[in-house]
Amino acid sequence: MRPLALLLAAAAAASLACAGAREGATDEPAAPICPVPERAIAPASSGPAAGLPPAIAGPRALLLRGARVIDGGGGPPRPGLDILVDETGLIVKVAAGIAAPADAEVIDVGGRTVLPGLIDAHTHLLSEPASSFPALVTRGAREGEADRALRGAANAWATLQAGFTTVRNVGGTLADRSLRDAIDAGRLPGPRMLVANHSIGITGGHCDHTNGLHPEKIPAEPDFTRGIADGPDGVRKAVRYQIKQGADVIKICATGGVLSQGDGVGAPQLSAEEMRAIVDEAGRAERKVAAHAHGTQGIRDAVLAGVHSVEHGSILDPPTVALMKKRGVFLVPTTYVGRYVEGAAEAGRLSPDSAAKAQAIAPRMRESFRLAYKSGVKIANGSDAGVFPHGDNALELAEMVELGMSPADAIVAATASAAELLGLADVGRIAEGKVGDLIVVDGDPLADIRALQAPALVVKGGRVYVRRF
Ligand SMILES: [Zn+2]
Repeated sequence: MRPLALLLAAAAAASLACAGAREGATDEPAAPICPVPERAIAPASSGPAAGLPPAIAGPRALLLRGARVIDGGGGPPRPGLDILVDETGLIVKVAAGIAAPADAEVIDVGGRTVLPGLIDAHTHLLSEPASSFPALVTRGAREGEADRALRGAANAWATLQAGFTTVRNVGGTLADRSLRDAIDAGRLPGPRMLVANHSIGITGGHCDHTNGLHPEKIPAEPDFTRGIADGPDGVRKAVRYQIKQGADVIKICATGGVLSQGDGVGAPQLSAEEMRAIVDEAGRAERKVAAHAHGTQGIRDAVLAGVHSVEHGSILDPPTVALMKKRGVFLVPTTYVGRYVEGAAEAGRLSPDSAAKAQAIAPRMRESFRLAYKSGVKIANGSDAGVFPHGDNALELAEMVELGMSPADAIVAATASAAELLGLADVGRIAEGKVGDLIVVDGDPLADIRALQAPALVVKGGRVYVRRF
């Protein structure tokens, strides 16, 4: 945990830096990126309630013996180490030959590789793919928030079992916040969640889920409460509302998308002025902004408005990549979902409109990823799980490696880099003082990244949730 004084000092420094940047910005079209102070993770909660899939062990101290440690920072693996996590869930020692405390659970991992719990910076835990477009529309018409929340609970458990101990859930409903809080309270097993609640976008844009529905079938046109807003004042209100309802991060739709109906996938949607207002408003509340953006113009407008990450980034060119690099903006490339929607299009599971967009955008997405990786833009792992089944999150890592990323870099993208993007100081690394989120895998993920797809042990906050050896 970071002492409160440190966090306050970081916050003060951040607001000063941001104010200074604003003053100096008169002849510069780019808005400043407001630094957002890192957050500390809350101490371990009271633990899962009886009757729900439990943590197998905890809240006692946990000692993993005989680990080959990949610590998340990108260095070479270190064999022969023990990792001690105390009863509050913090890693207190990483060394060879640690003496086990009297009441500790001791697990000999037998030389297997241990990594930090993985992070997925782009999920939709309450969403799932449907067998066809009509099935998706029908489900949307029949279901309510309770259905979504219960589905989210199952998906959260699937995600944790897959070794993902932290996710950033970028776009859903207020039920996302409820799921986050239930997990934090120990009522449900799942990853630690940062949530955006509703994504913010324009009337008729990618975030407007009533696109294509006849107005007589819509009980009320979606408004700021559901993230739909127009004009700088309108979007400010939408940001304030999502934050009022517990949003940890703001998600916006800078451009059209694949699965929305009636909009061009690359078309700019929120205006540059609207995005500047969103970033400013989010910055006042110390929230970061994640921008869904496929087309180049929308990506540039979002980056210049000061967003912290570009999601998808499908049509990048060298000047835009250079701009992202200069401003330290993360790319969350979601490469696997590109592959997935191409397959769904071929199988006839998307609307004709979405199928055409999927097939046009996926090859561009792969090209853009290669360009961004080669150029050294910061990359954080994010899968877009929810468009494809939850639990398959690590397929994103395999796809990035397939496209030329080294396995070592893919691991950093899913650990230290993703933690940096999320602003979480205490996760994404195996080191003393960090939260005890750990996975144990068979095989060597540095040789074959697919080793991450079925972890043999999953520990979140010092509690063992999965053990397969
Ligand atoms: Zn998404």
